[in-house]
Amino acid sequence: MGYNDYLSMSDDELASLIIEEKKKKGIVILAHNYQRLEIQKLADYVGDSLELSRIAAKVPAQTIVFAGVMFMAETAKILAPEKKILIPDKEAGCPLAESITADQLRELRTKYPNRVVVSYVNTTADIKSLSDVVCTSANAVKVVEHLDGEKIIFVPDRNLGDWVKRCTGADMIIWQGSCYVHERFTVEDVERAKKLHPDAAVLVHPEAPPDVVALADLVASTSGMYKFVQEKRVPAIIGTEVGLMERIRHEIQDSKVYPLKDDAICKTMKYTTLPKLARSVREELFEVTVPEDVRERAVSAVRRMTEMV
Ligand code: SF4
Repeated sequence: MGYNDYLSMSDDELASLIIEEKKKKGIVILAHNYQRLEIQKLADYVGDSLELSRIAAKVPAQTIVFAGVMFMAETAKILAPEKKILIPDKEAGCPLAESITADQLRELRTKYPNRVVVSYVNTTADIKSLSDVVCTSANAVKVVEHLDGEKIIFVPDRNLGDWVKRCTGADMIIWQGSCYVHERFTVEDVERAKKLHPDAAVLVHPEAPPDVVALADLVASTSGMYKFVQEKRVPAIIGTEVGLMERIRHEIQDSKVYPLKDDAICKTMKYTTLPKLARSVREELFEVTVPEDVRERAVSAVRRMTEMV
């Protein structure tokens, strides 16, 4: 089957093919919260990147399709080296993860040899392998608190770094990368959304700029936002990529969630389409690899995080 054959199929035909093939091959599909809803609906698990990578390591399936961006599939491979990890579109990168190269981080380490390198999970395997400890947006504050007075180099997101610095007072050199989706949120967006939905709580991802984060009722990761809506059952303005809001509307009955910005869309997250997912599952494409020496060092940084939080 050529790729054009998948393109000529209807959504229903593609969904049936995906369900049939994944069952036949024992494949598990993981979809990030920012994936298109039609992809989320076909996934065995939906969640944030670390949550999904841990699931990849835990499930008995030997082949995993990770519907997300490259650093996420790499993280799954780091935690589940014996498994075949596939990504439906190998061009699905993350500009934030790509904002720092291994050479740039090496240079920083040489310049500041006594600092601890804390890297956000949104980094390449190379960057994780050069880090002392990894963190997520959900546990970054706890990880830095645990480092108890150590001087830090934080990569790559400046807004998350800034938020952690304000919460902990730690001495941090922060790499100036950012996520273009969250970086575009403004104070005016919050004011407009609050005017439209005065009873709604404002939930903002820490990758958003500090003046937007300052207006939030809750600063949280995607999993934190999901949990908030599930537990509190109150209307909420969702300050992250719109895919999470679609997931909440689909999965949490009677939820009332509104986007902070309608067009908060991550282009590369949406590279995964039904034809590409069908091709990935049927033809077992595209396999993600991480060199073993890089993987071993990266997994130590991830384990260190797990020991701390
Ligand atoms: S939303 Fe931002 S951080 Fe997440 S994958 Fe897209 S560009 Fe990267």
